Formats: sequence, structure tokens, C-alpha cells
Amino acid sequence: MSNQKVTILENILSANDQLAEKNRFLLDKFNIFSLNIMASPGAGKTSVILKTIEALKSTTRIGVIEGDTAAVTIDADKVTAGGAYAVQINTGGNCHLDSSMIEAGLNQLPLESLDLVIIENVGNLVCPAAFELGTNTRVLIASIPEGDDKPYKYPGMYRGVDVLILNKTDLKPYVPFDVNYFRKGVTLLNPGVKIFPLSCITGEGFKPWIEWIKIHLKK
Ligand code: MG
Ligand code: ZN
Repeated sequence: MSNQKVTILENILSANDQLAEKNRFLLDKFNIFSLNIMASPGAGKTSVILKTIEALKSTTRIGVIEGDTAAVTIDADKVTAGGAYAVQINTGGNCHLDSSMIEAGLNQLPLESLDLVIIENVGNLVCPAAFELGTNTRVLIASIPEGDDKPYKYPGMYRGVDVLILNKTDLKPYVPFDVNYFRKGVTLLNPGVKIFPLSCITGEGFKPWIEWIKIHLKK
């Protein structure tokens, strides 16, 4: 990249970070715990979110911001049917959410009556990692069918997250996936990351993830 391009990119990212701080302040003001969920398309973001809502909705009021590159409300409709407040953000083809989109999303949610806000980022393992949104926690969902080499191929994403969900563990018998090789890559990049292997189909491993959220709720 030319120096000029680098400067423009740095300016965009610093404007994004400033707005992310505003989002963080707003979420803190209402004592809301928040998750930015990132993954490749098809890793199971919506499935994990729906199952999380199902497990928590009797005790926790949840809002979801759904990022999509097209004007489809498929995921937002599922979330609403699942019992949470949903806001749909159409990125207009953009391949990630930024903090101005989250600001717009938060403005449409009843923050005073929420305990948890979940953001479903656009399916992409590259640039969502560069855009801070102002959430408490950054969560990456990897899945067994994607293969065990993803930490090595997308180090920026694996390095920048607080929590890693390894989804679709029910497919382990049918798909070649070397858990040790995967974990070795994860540990090299992000030694402190919390890992939850789980399956949305069988429910295996889901309880520790739900308990982890419960511990972090602020009210
Ligand atoms: Mg989805
Ligand atoms: Zn992008």
C-alpha cells in the first residue's frame, strides 16, 4: 500500500475506535454485557445465538444486532421468533460491521430493559477483526467442517479474540479434524483464549458456555 493509503486506513480505524468507545460507554451505562460474534459464513453464528437465547431467555433480556451484507431479515426473523429483540443492519455489501453501524443498532434497541447484547458480525474471517465495536467480549466461532488449519491461515482473527467456540463437534466422527493441531495453532497465537467446544445439534458442551455468560452478566 502507498503511504497515502496507509494514512487513510489509519484514519478510518481511529475514527472507528473513537465511536467504539462511545458504544462501550453506552453499554456500560445500562449495565449490559455484550458479545461481538465473528466467524466465517456457515460456522453456525445464528445457531449458537438462537440456542443461547433459548437457554437464557427465562432469566435474561437479550438484544441482537444482526449484520448482513444484503437486505435480508432471515436471521433477525429467527432471533425475534426465538424470543429476543432483534435489529437488522444491512452493510450494503460491506464485509464487516463497524462501530457506526453498531451505534445505529443500539439506538433501535430498548437498552434500559436489556441485560445482554449479542452482535452477529458479517461472515468473514479477515476484516471484522480490525474493527472494534465497543463490546465487552470478542467471540470467534470456528467449526469442525472448516478444517483444523484455520488458525494458521487467519492469524489476525485468532489472535484478537477473547473466546473461541469450536462448533459442530457432533461432526467429528465424519470429518478429518486434528484437534491437537488446531489447538496448537490457537495456543501459539492466543495463549489465554477461553475455548468452548460444543454442538448446537446435540447440545454437548453448551452448558459451560451458558455458565460463562451468566458469570459475566452485570445484573
Ligand atoms: Mg447468520
Ligand atoms: Zn470488511
